[in-house]
Amino acid sequence: MIDKESESHCIFCRILAGEAPATFLHQDGLCSVFMDIRPVNPGHLLIIPNEHKPYLRDVEPEILSVMMRLARRFTAALRASGLQCEGVNLFLADGEAAGQEVFHCHLHVFPRYRNDGFGLRFGPEYVVRARAELEAAAARIGAAVMEMERGDGSGSSAIE
Ligand code: 5GP
Ligand code: ZN
Repeated sequence: MIDKESESHCIFCRILAGEAPATFLHQDGLCSVFMDIRPVNPGHLLIIPNEHKPYLRDVEPEILSVMMRLARRFTAALRASGLQCEGVNLFLADGEAAGQEVFHCHLHVFPRYRNDGFGLRFGPEYVVRARAELEAAAARIGAAVMEMERGDGSGSSAIE
């Protein structure tokens, strides 16, 4: 069985190594930006860390901050490009159930326009929930954050 998370089977690592083709927009010592081969809309690009990191949790906060700065820059570029672009979506699929197909963390940036055919589908449970239910979920998340902070022993902030 192939390990879907491994670097040796990673198409993005092959692209970065020059072993597979891609149309690059940017590359620096930490991150790269290239066009998605199957764009949701023309202009769809991907921002990735140069190091193979399968999930969001694996990417260092400093690299994530570079990725978000690049997203801001390329969002502005898409709006100014003359490509059809009335708005922009940033999308990151973290985990197979969330739609992740390439297990090298990446941030999608793509133009949106009215009636472009793209959409997220909501399930039947998509309704305003009782406050108690929101608070119960928040309590679980808060407890998980406390546990994570205790676990790493570094005293580092929860956002890292
Ligand atoms: P995910 O579903 O993991 O969030 O997104 C993976 C993205 O990678 C998809 O949008 C897909 O089109 C793109 N992709 C997959 N293989 C290649 C490739 O070989 N080259 C490029 N440029 N993009 C790819
Ligand atoms: Zn990779």
